Amino acid sequence: MYNSIIIHYNEIAIKGKNRIFFEKKLISNIHASLNKKHKITRHYGFILIDINKPSLEEIKILENKLTKIPGIANFSFAFKSSLDFENLKKQTILFLKNQDFNTFKVDARRSNKQFPLTSPQINVSLGEVIYNSLNKKVDIKNPDLTLFVEVSLKEIFIFTSRTPGLGGLPVGVSANVICSLSGGIDSPVAAFLFMKRGAKVIFVHIYNNTLVKKEILDKIKTLVTTLNQFQGNSKLYVVPFSEIQKHIIANIDSDYRMIIYRRFMFKIIDEISKKENAKAVITGDNIGQVASQTIENMTTIYSATKLPIFSPLIAFDKNEIISIAKKIDTYKTSIIPYPDCCSYMLSKHPRTRSTVDEILDFEKKIENEEDLINNAISSSDIILV
Ligand code: ATP
Ligand code: MG
Repeated sequence: MYNSIIIHYNEIAIKGKNRIFFEKKLISNIHASLNKKHKITRHYGFILIDINKPSLEEIKILENKLTKIPGIANFSFAFKSSLDFENLKKQTILFLKNQDFNTFKVDARRSNKQFPLTSPQINVSLGEVIYNSLNKKVDIKNPDLTLFVEVSLKEIFIFTSRTPGLGGLPVGVSANVICSLSGGIDSPVAAFLFMKRGAKVIFVHIYNNTLVKKEILDKIKTLVTTLNQFQGNSKLYVVPFSEIQKHIIANIDSDYRMIIYRRFMFKIIDEISKKENAKAVITGDNIGQVASQTIENMTTIYSATKLPIFSPLIAFDKNEIISIAKKIDTYKTSIIPYPDCCSYMLSKHPRTRSTVDEILDFEKKIENEEDLINNAISSSDIILV
């Protein structure tokens, strides 16, 4: 029976000139997600997808895709009818005939003020038809079913539910950013939160290439594939780190290694950001979780790059992070144990209060820093998802 999906977005966020840009991005993201199989059009205040009586299975697939596209506030599977009210009455009966309910109400809205009936008149008139033809009772307060009616400029839509979307902004309306992606719980959640604010996320994972490679690659690829559902296509750099690690171990006191190691990560990301026209780095950092995450150490680590670094989870509790990770389905992959690239760099007494000056002194001991970084990048695997 359905011939349309009505997509609503959060209009408050998009005033003026941005609106068309926003709508076009959203439409192109929906197109990509639905493999260009449907006609999608822009209307005043909503976006419309044409569908042709989808099966239950097809509805499930569409629903699953639309609930993962940032920028959609809610959507409804609907029947689109002409502006002819007599015809609408007939279509309403056909639309509701096989639905299971005893009580109902009609909730009409009219953006088309030229339409001859007001919203309350539509409510009453359609209510009577449903009462007379289907023998159902009106219950305004607590109905089994609400028939929503939207009278727009050229057509009328009827539907019975609104499925909540992710909200946020369509991917592509904000700048490109790089997510420093570990195999842990936090950084995938940070990436998701930025996609939801319209950023296109490019992933960089740094790994110890002397350890088992396939295990790590599989895990990271699975994480990126799961996250990719929210942005449609993704690029992942997997950067080998063992050569740099050797130099760090040979030259740096073990208590400081983790800090230097993370600074190198940012220097690598800095270079990649130039290739990818990325304007910021996203991390899963969270104050106090591990030794490298004291405010002092984060300041020292972050000063390795001029790029702005955003850590959206910085003040979250772990259980808040885990609940998002479960919702976006990265949690089950994140908790699979794997050899962390830097686990043997950990010291018993890692420095928790470093300063930039002392770290810069240490770093002078590592020669050919630029070559080390460029070699690591040029031997990266670049994976398109
Ligand atoms: P996560 O759960 O995201 O791994 P964490 O609490 O375990 O975070 P760390 O392991 O210290 O904390 O990592 C802090 C942040 O550093 C991560 O959120 C991620 O952004 C970045 N990071 C850590 N390891 C890597 C890696 N191997 N490659 C790329 N980025 C990394
Ligand atoms: Mg980690």
